[in-house]
Parts: sequence; structure tokens; C-alpha cells
Amino acid sequence: MPEFFDNDIKFLKGVGEARANTLSKETGVANFRDLLYYFPFRHVDRSRFYQIADLQGEDLPALQIKGQFISFSSEGEGARKRLRGLFTDGRKMIETVWFNNLKYFSSQYKPGVEYVIFGKPSLYHNIYSIAHPEVEIYNPEKPPIGFRGVYTITEGLRKKGFSVLTFRRMVEEVIKNPGFRSLPETLPSEIMQRYHLMPLKEALVNMHFPQSHETLQKAIERFKFEELYYIELNILRFSMERGAKIKGYPFSKIGEKFNGFYANGLPFELTGAQKRVLKEIWKDMKGGRQMNRLLQGDVGSGKTMVAFLTCLMAIDNGFQTAIMAPTEILATQHYETISNWALKCGVSVALLTGSTRQKDRKLIHAALQNGSLDILIGTHALIEDNVQFQKLGTVVIDEQHRFGVAQRAKMWKKGDTAPHMLVMTATPIPRTLAMTVYGDLDVSVIDELPPGRTPINTLVRWDSSRVEVDNLIFSQLKQGRQVYIVYPLIQDNEKLDLKSLELGYQRACDTFVGYKVCYVHGKMKPEEKERQMDLFVKGEANIMVATTVIEVGVNVPNATVMVIENAERFGLSQLHQLRGRVGRGAKQSYCVLMGKQTSGAETKKRLAIMAETTDGFLISEADMKMRGPGDMEGTMQSGMPFTLRVANLARDGQILSRAREAALSVLAGTKLLLSPGASDSPNEKIKHPITLNDKEINMTRHELRMRFAHSIDWSLIS
Ligand code: ADP
Ligand code: MG
Repeated sequence: MPEFFDNDIKFLKGVGEARANTLSKETGVANFRDLLYYFPFRHVDRSRFYQIADLQGEDLPALQIKGQFISFSSEGEGARKRLRGLFTDGRKMIETVWFNNLKYFSSQYKPGVEYVIFGKPSLYHNIYSIAHPEVEIYNPEKPPIGFRGVYTITEGLRKKGFSVLTFRRMVEEVIKNPGFRSLPETLPSEIMQRYHLMPLKEALVNMHFPQSHETLQKAIERFKFEELYYIELNILRFSMERGAKIKGYPFSKIGEKFNGFYANGLPFELTGAQKRVLKEIWKDMKGGRQMNRLLQGDVGSGKTMVAFLTCLMAIDNGFQTAIMAPTEILATQHYETISNWALKCGVSVALLTGSTRQKDRKLIHAALQNGSLDILIGTHALIEDNVQFQKLGTVVIDEQHRFGVAQRAKMWKKGDTAPHMLVMTATPIPRTLAMTVYGDLDVSVIDELPPGRTPINTLVRWDSSRVEVDNLIFSQLKQGRQVYIVYPLIQDNEKLDLKSLELGYQRACDTFVGYKVCYVHGKMKPEEKERQMDLFVKGEANIMVATTVIEVGVNVPNATVMVIENAERFGLSQLHQLRGRVGRGAKQSYCVLMGKQTSGAETKKRLAIMAETTDGFLISEADMKMRGPGDMEGTMQSGMPFTLRVANLARDGQILSRAREAALSVLAGTKLLLSPGASDSPNEKIKHPITLNDKEINMTRHELRMRFAHSIDWSLIS
């Protein structure tokens, strides 16, 4: 017998076959349960009358006020003409405004009559005003409308006669039915108690027909918690299972190459953060489990040295290593840096990219197979090239956001002992993303820059300040410094962008006479790009005009000026990356954000944030808040493995932390959810395990399957 909630929606009173088809086509609602989870996108509170004196803040919901109009006046001329009404609840006043049908409205409402007005007040010149309020004569006999949800009504629904009211009636019908009482709770009771969550039935009722603002908030919170809890449960369980299933090579010793280089080869003293991170990495690699570590370190924090020393640890244990970079330029630069270091400790290094010649490629392949090559540096050609290592022990992936989960997984064949993975990124990942999208990785952070850096001076300038900016560039060029000028290059407007880049190049040549200007963009042939980059890296060119191809990793310590044109078109995190190209030496560096004078307040605020802080974490949190997590450029390119219905990663960080803690406690208390052998949790310490009873364990499993079996694609890795 099907459960009450599995009942086809066509059996609901007043629905029937035809309307059921429309419903399922337009909204995916096919049964009673679906209908209950078709949540309103907003709520209307007509349960009570607000006092104007009680209104506070800028973000108010639509609400109703009882009172009288005092006066009407029309203002403005022509298209800007409007009708203003003053309305009082007897104690304070609020404005009402109409922008059309002025005649009608001014004759419609009479002073001295008791009305109820309804609408969203906004603060305007320190006084609240409601534009085009709903107005009706107050009728004490009329039952209150209450506090109600408003549903998304698609065009298709509307055509077939569905309205918000239809949904309210349908939901009411389900809730009224005695069968509703049989709805089982979907969260374990201990979690409900520990986190003070609203029970499911109550929460569902409140989502549709809230008793009050407080109960609505509690209901929303419960669903957010539940959604995030099951995601965390899945991610953590997956990560534990992987820990148990996939073996890693246990490295046994820190050997002579590492020790020799550490004692005599280091070109600088490591920062405390670099040392700490290396310890964390070593602890992973000697443990017998496969390392899966995300290394976050701001631009210039010295990740390359950490990568090299990590490779030495593996090499000393008889293994080969690979370092992958997202671009050829970056791979080449790594190769040059690391070759110098490798010379000092007798380690062999090769570079393999798309433009490696066939002859060299053959040699590299041979050296990889016979085990004589220690470090292979390359682009993704490295995984697509069918490269065979004799004994690959550790892989370092730099600037990871360009590599998807799928590519990470390609590094080893299924069933093999997996190489240790160190994933490095300069894009600070907000905590909420680190706990979800990257929730299966352990995290290390380099939170300290090498000493002797002078903070970068960031200036926000408009077109009117061209001369000032040119003078700054001149003065730096005269001191022998180098300059970047960067233009945006955005896919859907490529032609125009390329044009502005060309014009910018021309202008730089014309303005900075006597200095050599080079020119790089993504559409160039690789050899030409390489040649131009090389001019700048070697110091033969003084100015580089470029698109964002230079964003990642280029290291020219003599460059002290970064001018970013059309800065308003870049995301904050991207601006931060670009800024990181300067300030790499001890000299004072400058980052000039050229914006449009006519930019909106939001844009100006964004640019101001850049001028205020150089903290990559603050910037990425701000970026995520402003653009939402789905938009997080780069970080999200590999794609979210799940979709969120109620929770929002940009706003619900606290709920997420609690949900994760709950999931950890459950996993700790429940052997049954784990595969044998998985003992400890990957990331955090668990305070108090939560023990589920058999029913709850089954429920949890059922919930996991119901909710996420299809939405999370971990199959690539597990
Ligand atoms: P990123 O983390 O952005 O990859 P890099 O590894 O390119 O940073 O390092 C940036 C610069 O800082 C390089 O020139 C590097 O040689 C230098 N560097 C790295 N670590 C230290 C350190 N501990 N002390 C001084 N300079 C360092
Ligand atoms: Mg780097």
C-alpha cells in the first residue's frame, strides 16, 4: 500500500488527471510530498497591523497598516509626475506614492475613512514610503487574511487557471487530511534535540502558513539545516570510505636529498607557515592513507617551495613526482625555478607541455618509464598524453580551480594505489565552500607572507585621472621598474575586448616613448605568447599590455605597477589575483584600478574594498556575498556536485557549521554508516558522538538515497 505522501497528486481533491499533468510538467510536483516541498518563494504577513513607530531598518517585508489618509498632493512634471499621500496610524506618519493613474487614486481615497494599506515600506530621505500600496476600507467583521506563502506561478500554470490561491488550497487540503499526521520525521531525534530544530510537520505547516515571523524563521532554518546536514553526511562518509578503500603509499623516511637541500640549498629561510604546512603534508604521506590535501596560500606566499620540498620527500622514498600547472607559461616558470633548486640536490626535472617536441617527448617518456626522471612538470598534457610513470608517488596540482574533480581522478587508474595529492590554490576558498564543494579534502593554509615585502598601494582612479596615472608609470619606468597594463577579456564580447586591448597597446607605445612594450593575449599562438612573455620576464620589455592570461602565477619581482583597465568588469577575487603580480620584491608597488566614473554605487563599493584590504580571505568572502556562490569565478568552474534548494552558501555559514558538526557526530556514533576500517574522521575532532537507533539509521540511509543518490556524482573518484 502506498504511503499517504506517495499518493499521486491527481487524487487530491479538486485536482484530477488534467491539472495533475500540468502541475507535474510545470513544477515537477507529482505527489502529495512534492506539493508540501513546493515552498513559497516569499511570504505575506497580513495577520496583524503594524505600528509605523515600530518600523526599523531598510529591509522590511510587505506589511499592513491601519489608519487614515491625511492629505494628497501631486508633485513633479511630465513623466516624473507622482501623487503623494500622507497616511497616519494615529501616532506616526508614512508616505504613500503613486506614479500612474494619479487622477483615479486622488479621487478614490477619502480623508477621515479608516483604511488598511499593504505594501513594502522603503526608507526614503529618512521617512518610510510605500509605492502603490494595496488599499482597502477597514472592515472589522472581515476575518484576517493571515500570514501566507506566495508561490511561483509559471506562465503555463497561469494559463491553466492556477493561482497562488490554488496552491494554498491544495496544500491546505493535504495538511488537513488525517494522513498528514502519519508523516515521519526525517531527522534523528538526538539531532533535533541537540540543535533545537523545529519538527518536520510543524515546519512544513509553517513554510506555507506561518504562525509568526519567528516560527517561519525556525521552519526555514530547519530545512536549511536538513539540506546541509545530508550533504555533509554524504561528503564526510564518502571521504571516510575513500580513506578506507584507497591505499596510499606509506613513505617511511625523510631522506638525504630533502635533508641536504634543507641544510645547504634553501635560498631563503622558510616562513613559519611553510614549515607548519610541510609537517602536515609529511604526516599525511607517511600515514599509509592517500593524502588529499588542499593547500591555500595567498599569491606570493611561497607555495612553489612547498611543492618542491613535498616532491623531495617522495623522491627520497624512491618515488617519482609530477607538478601540474594550468597554463604553459606557468608550467615553464615552475620548471625554471625548480630546475635551479633541483640542481643543488641532484634531482632530475623535465618539462612536458603541448609544445614539447616529439623527440624530447620520447626521451621524457622513456625516462619516466625507467624511473630515472624524478620530477615531471607540465600542463594537463601531462594527463592526456598517456604518460606512464614507473612509480608515481605524489602529484602536486597548482592553481587547482582550473582542474576539475574529473581531472584530479584521472591521475591514477582505478584500483591502483593512488598517489598522494597536493592541490594548491591562491584563490582563498570561503569556509562554506571548503566545507561543501571541497569537503572531501583536508585543508592546509599558508597564512603568512615571506618577510621583507612592502604592502602594495592600491589606488582607485577614474578616466579623468589618466595624466596622474601616466605620471606614476613614468616615474617607475625611470627607476627601471616594469609595468603591467591589463584589459578584461570576456567571452561574449571578444571582438570589442580585443579592440580595446589593441588600442591600449597603441596608446602605451605612443605615450611611453622610448620604452619597449610587449603584448599578450589568449588568442595568440603559443610560441608568440611565449616570446612576448619572455621579453617581459627577462626585463627586455618594460611594459606588458595583456589580458588576464597573466593572472595566474607569473613571477616578475621587478614589476611594480599593475594598471587594471575597466576594473569594474572584473570580480574581486580576480582583481586580487592580478594585484598579486606586483609587490613581489622589496620595492613599493602600486595597483591602479581604473574604473568608469559612471559606475554604480555597488561597483564603487567593490573597488573600495580592494583599496581597503589585501586579505585574500576577506576579499573572497565579500566576493561570494556580492555575487553568490554559484558565480564564484574560478573556484566554481569545476561545478557544484549538488544543487541547493533552501540553503545559501553565501549566507548560511553558521547553519552549515552546525550541520557539519552534526554529521560528524552521527558518523562517529554509527559504525553502520561506515565501511569497515574507516575509523577516524578526516578533518575535525568530534566532541560527542550521536547514536542513532536502528530505525533512524535506516531513515538516514533512506534520506541519503532519496535526496542525493542522483545529485552527487562521486563515481569519478570512488
Ligand atoms: P605563490 O604562493 O604565489 O606560488 P611563489 O612560490 O611564487 O608564491 O613565491 C613568491 C616569491 O616569494 C618567489 O620569488 C619566492 O622565491 C619567494 N619566497 C617564497 N618563500 C619565501 C621565503 N620563505 N622567504 C623569502 N622569499 C620567499
Ligand atoms: Mg604559484
